[in-house]
This record gives sequence, structure tokens and C-alpha cells, in this order.
Amino acid sequence: MKIINYINGEWLEPTVSEYANVINPATGEVIAETPLCGDVEVAAAAKAAATAFPAWRATPAQDRIQYLFRLRDLLKANIDEIGRTITIECGKTLDEAKAEMVRAIENVEVACGMPMMMKGEISEDIAPGIDEIMLRQPLGVCATIAPFNFPGMIPFWYLPYALATGNTYIIKPSEKVSMTMQLIFRLIEQVGFPKGVINLVNGSKDAVDAILDHPAIRAITFVGSTNVAQYIYRRAAENGKRVQAQGGAKNPVIILPDANMEMATNIIADSAFGCAGQRCLAVSLAVTVAEARNTFTELICDAASSRVVGYGLDDGVQMGPVISQISKERVEQLIGLGAKEGATALVDGRGTTIKGYESGSFVRPTVLADVQPGSEIWKTEIFGPVLSMMHVNTIDEAIKLANSHAYGNQASLFTSSGLAARKFRYEVEAGNIGINIGVAAPMAFFPFSGWKESFFGDMHGQGMDAVEFFTQKKVVIERWPKEWSRKF
Ligand code: NAD
Repeated sequence: MKIINYINGEWLEPTVSEYANVINPATGEVIAETPLCGDVEVAAAAKAAATAFPAWRATPAQDRIQYLFRLRDLLKANIDEIGRTITIECGKTLDEAKAEMVRAIENVEVACGMPMMMKGEISEDIAPGIDEIMLRQPLGVCATIAPFNFPGMIPFWYLPYALATGNTYIIKPSEKVSMTMQLIFRLIEQVGFPKGVINLVNGSKDAVDAILDHPAIRAITFVGSTNVAQYIYRRAAENGKRVQAQGGAKNPVIILPDANMEMATNIIADSAFGCAGQRCLAVSLAVTVAEARNTFTELICDAASSRVVGYGLDDGVQMGPVISQISKERVEQLIGLGAKEGATALVDGRGTTIKGYESGSFVRPTVLADVQPGSEIWKTEIFGPVLSMMHVNTIDEAIKLANSHAYGNQASLFTSSGLAARKFRYEVEAGNIGINIGVAAPMAFFPFSGWKESFFGDMHGQGMDAVEFFTQKKVVIERWPKEWSRKF
């Protein structure tokens, strides 16, 4: 399949010389080619979006959301096909892929409340006869640069809010998984948005740089690794753009001795190994406290070794491959590095081959015990199905350890104590907190709230943060003196 762009309401095949292969990570087959576009295609999309902006902005919000209602219905009706496409190019299981789309749809639904959400404010008589009004107005052309791990969901943390508030849009998917947006844009085409309101440009670094530098693009949202997030944040800010950049993660989970161990293990295993550990909210550092150690270690090793690994479209499979052979090699090297640094691989997923899928990039769930704070394996985001384990004696030590990490995307606690839960919630330095929850993914009406090296910006994605991000406030102070007015 040849991936093409959607610009100004038309499907356009770009004239580029370079393509990136989209590879089914379970079979190793090349299934599509992503054109590596740059300045020319981004400029065309920005022009189309800028031209469409005045009329779209002037369209009442209650009319703009009618398009989103139609999009929501089409996404729902096509969830199986979109899910299959996500599995084929990204590797996660079909259930995981469809669950991702449920979250995408939820964001469209929340954005359909925009006539209410973007209302302004007014204070009468801030001085005698003078009123002050705050209006929210859209910014203009906005863009999203997306990662590979949620090809369907992540653009929807932004797109519905941006459109509903009256902005026009450009999406640049990850070149590794460009088929999902290709399919979703077929639905966007069916919705019948006015030309130029929403555009798709494919590519990698050149397309990103063109977006970062284009003068008509007013705001950028990025999701991906921390190094790239920092680069995007800096360069977009230098160019005077509004920007938010969500970065990588290394999420701790603390297990207290009073936790329900069976429940905790099942939930933690789903979090650490679900989507092959390629979720920014996957727990990756398990910290056992006091006597939680033995029971949890035994149970999590059982859960890791019994997880069914295979092609995400096959029945009964609980975990698919990582995204590529390069990623498989990197994850395996990091497991080796952990062992060199003194950790013990209690369950070792290296060297996995799955019958019938010998060319797939599979790594089985891995449990590394006795990981040392400050070691490379402790610091590095592995982004694979690897759970590192550490042990301490008190909850204070556990929270201190969690807070000493550079990332702050998510932190979880398993306990039956309300007091411990309250302490954790109060003290832990991360933006998304789970109490007896393994993947604390905020619903669409809450912000997706990473902290520290996991987030660069002020306002986050989703909910009211997205409304803030995609609107600029205008304050009007008005006086209408009696003596200047005609009498009626
Ligand atoms: P990535 O940073 O490699 O790529 C993300 C996007 O940036 C892609 O569209 C890619 O084309 C572009 N890109 C890559 N290198 C670039 C460069 N040098 N210059 C400009 N653009 C570049 O990330 P990925 O591997 O696709 O995704 C996995 C990462 O995303 C993980 O670190 C994960 O934690 C993170 N992530 C974070 C969140 C969050 O909410 N914090 C959510 C999902 C994923």
C-alpha cells in the first residue's frame, strides 16, 4: 500500500524520493510505504488550513460539532477495521487496538460539548457602568506530531478539541504506522469537513522540521520520546509557537504488604506487559515494600511466564511483538545491560521466536530483580515488556525512590490502606496517579497530566486543558456612557 497525503480535501501522492517501510511487526512483512515529505507538502497543508480558517472560525460551534458527531458515528461503525489496521502495523492485540479507539471516540464525544466548554465570562460593573468580558478565540492552524504506539488514539487527544474550538488542522502520524490515519482520513473525507479544515501530511524529521518552522502554524502538540519532545518544545518556542510536548516515561508501582496480592499482580502484569510494554503509562519499576516482596515476586514471575505471546490477530493472544527488529534488539541489549549491572533476570524474554511468525519482533515478558537505583537500566525507558524490580522497607523509602526518577508520567500504589493511599497521592511527583490501578489513563474529560521529563509545556491534552491550549483569551472592557448615546 502506498501512503498518500490528504490536503485541502484531496488525496495527493507526493513527489518524494524517500519512503519509510511500514512493517507488520508480527510477520516482518512490508505492508506499506510512508512518503517522507518535507517543506513542500507541509507548506501546501498549512496554506490550505490557513485559507480554510476564517470560514471555519466563523462557523458556530454548535454547527462545527455536527461534523464531530458524524465522525464519532463513523469511527464507531468502523472500529473493527481500524482495530485490525492498528494490530497489523503496530503489533498490539485486536482487543488492545479496539480499546485504543474507544478512547479516541471518547475524546470526540467530549469535544462535542464545545459550545458549553468554550464559553467566555463576563463581570458587570467592574467600575460604574463598565463591564469586562473574556472571550475565547481559536488560534488558527494547529498541528499534531504523533508517536507509533497509539496510531489511532493519540491524535484524538487534540484534533477534536482543536476543530471544535474553530482551529484548522494538520496531522503528521508516525512514519512507522501511517496506515491507521490513512484509514481514519477516509472516514474524515466521508464526514465532509470543508476543504482544508483537516489535513494529513506523512513523513518523519523533515516534515516535523517544516511544521516547527512554518510561520502559519500557530500551535503544535507532540507525543513521543523525551529527546525529541525537548527538541520540539525548544524549536517551536523559538519560533513563537504555542507548544506542548509529551515525552517518555519510567513508571513506578509500589506494592505495600497489605495489598491484595493476586489482584495487584494481575493488574500490574497487564500494565507492564500489555501492548508489549509500549505504553507511556506501562508500569516498568515495581518497588516492593517489606514483606510484599516474596509473594509479589513469585506471582509476577508466574504471570510473566504464562502470558500468551503471538500475533495480535490470533485468538487467545495476550501480548504481541514490539514495533520492530531494531526495538527488539534494543530491548534485549537493555536486559543484558541490566544483568551486567547486577540485576537478575528471573524471567528472561530474550531470544523469543513464535512458531509461524519466525520473522516477528517478539520479546517475551521479562522480570528483572534487584535493579539498582541510579543504574542505566533504572534510568532508561525500555519501552518493551520488561518489569524491573526493587525492594525497600518503608513507604517513605519507596516514595523517595519514585521521586528520585527524572520522569513523572505515572506512579501507582497497591494497598488496602486509605492513609497510605492519601500519603502517596499527596507526596508522589507524577502527573497521573493510580491507586490500585495499573494504567491510570485519564478519561477524556480530564487532562493527560505527565510531569517532569515526561512533559514540556503548560496545558496538557484532553478536556478543559485542550480547550485552553487551542484558544486564546481576549479580554474586553466596555463603557457606554449615557451622554454619548442617542435616546430612544
Ligand atoms: P519518537 O520520539 O521516536 O517519534 C515521535 C514522532 O516524532 C514521530 O512522528 C517521528 O516521526 C518524529 N521524530 C522522531 N525523531 C525525530 C527527530 N529527530 N526530529 C523530529 N521529529 C522526530 O517516539 P516513538 O518511538 O514514535 O514513540 C514512543 C515514545 O513516545 C516513548 O518514549 C513513549 O513513552 C512516548 N509516549 C509518550 C506518551 C505520553 O503521553 N507522555 C504517550 C505515548 C508515547
